Amino acid sequence: MKLYNIKENDEQVSFGQAVRQGLGRNQGLFFPTDIPALDNIDALLEEDFVTRSSKILSALIGDELSESQVSQMVDTAFQFPAPIKSVKDGTYALELFHGPTLAFKDFGGRFMAQSLATVSKGGKITILTATSGDTGAAVAHAFYGMADINVVILYPKGKISPLQEKLFCTLGNNIHTVAIDGDFDDCQALVKKAFDDEALRQEIGLNSANSINISRLMAQICYYFEAAAQMSKSERENLVISVPSGNFGNLTAGLLAKALGLPIKRFIAATNANDTVPRYLETGKWDPKPTVATTSNAMDVSQPNNWPRIEELCQREGWGLDTLGSAAVTDEQSAASVKELHDSGYLCEPHGAIAYRALQEQLAEGETGLFLCTAHPAKFKEVVDDILGTDIELPGPLAKHAAMDLLSEDLANDFDLLKTVLRKVQ
Ligand SMILES: *Cc1c(COP(=O)(O)O)cnc(C)c1O
Repeated sequence: MKLYNIKENDEQVSFGQAVRQGLGRNQGLFFPTDIPALDNIDALLEEDFVTRSSKILSALIGDELSESQVSQMVDTAFQFPAPIKSVKDGTYALELFHGPTLAFKDFGGRFMAQSLATVSKGGKITILTATSGDTGAAVAHAFYGMADINVVILYPKGKISPLQEKLFCTLGNNIHTVAIDGDFDDCQALVKKAFDDEALRQEIGLNSANSINISRLMAQICYYFEAAAQMSKSERENLVISVPSGNFGNLTAGLLAKALGLPIKRFIAATNANDTVPRYLETGKWDPKPTVATTSNAMDVSQPNNWPRIEELCQREGWGLDTLGSAAVTDEQSAASVKELHDSGYLCEPHGAIAYRALQEQLAEGETGLFLCTAHPAKFKEVVDDILGTDIELPGPLAKHAAMDLLSEDLANDFDLLKTVLRKVQ
């Protein structure tokens, strides 16, 4: 597999390099040079999730890894289903929250962990990442117990939900969590400083695990195929998919699935009030505003990292504006949709409800609609209970961790202190 840096096209890397490096020169994102057209999609859709996903990813990665290596990675990473549920005639929910941390980020996080372990050149690896909630949990669980890999996760003390904190700060072993006396930007700044420190990087084998790593997007391609596989051929012929978007990785993966040959008619990029992309698609002006807090906080992003990949792909494939619709949904509208879905017998949290709402507005006669449910409703229990007047139950993994002790250490917002921690965990 060959990938190039979107900003500096002469920088070309292999899959292994892209996974290890994360970002290219000048902060450029890596993108595949060739996207193979998969043949006989109908036969592929007959396969089971793991077999089919191995074939898709093997076709993308090419001969850099053997088919059995890829299938082993997929088999370990995808140990939970991605079912579709019919919520009304012609409209399905794709449930991506059956993994260990109850959000779709488990797919990408776990496949990235497997990828990194497979392409690493030996020696110790330290994964350092900052989180405002969900990503940290997915990364922690994905790397938990892996030999020769230490994970250090920084998060703003007191600024993530208690339940989120319990989910990834109770693991121990090779997972080290540090509550920084500061906000999320301070945590990100500390991570950046560590990456700028070349000596430290070498010494501890520093690696990032953030959302721009191409292996995460590759994993996410697979559940679009899995959704289509659960529909009849006639249903999937006119398929419109609505994606609740923040950093736009999920949507990038969907578009990659289409480029590989999955017959998806069009996508809807659904955002909350952080509507940089819907405004851009309407006016042609890229004009990010300050990020505002919403009830769908995993989508509170006003400068989506993955957008350049989407533009690159649409341009390369010659896709016009009819491939990509968009909608910005308010908190009030998303709450109304949570209610509406609940009344018709489906429990959904605000992120999924935003995608549902956009789909409702834009689905035409004769089309099949699919909206992505990116998190388990219990992960946003407070908001959901508030909207519905319910007291929804915590699912097993969340309940188990909620009862465990926090293992985090507190740290001042100080790079020298962080360095000490990074050396200590080796
Ligand atoms: C991360 C996240 C999103 C946004 O996904 P992107 O790939 O960043 O667009 C949506 N919903 C939930 C629950 C998330 O955790």
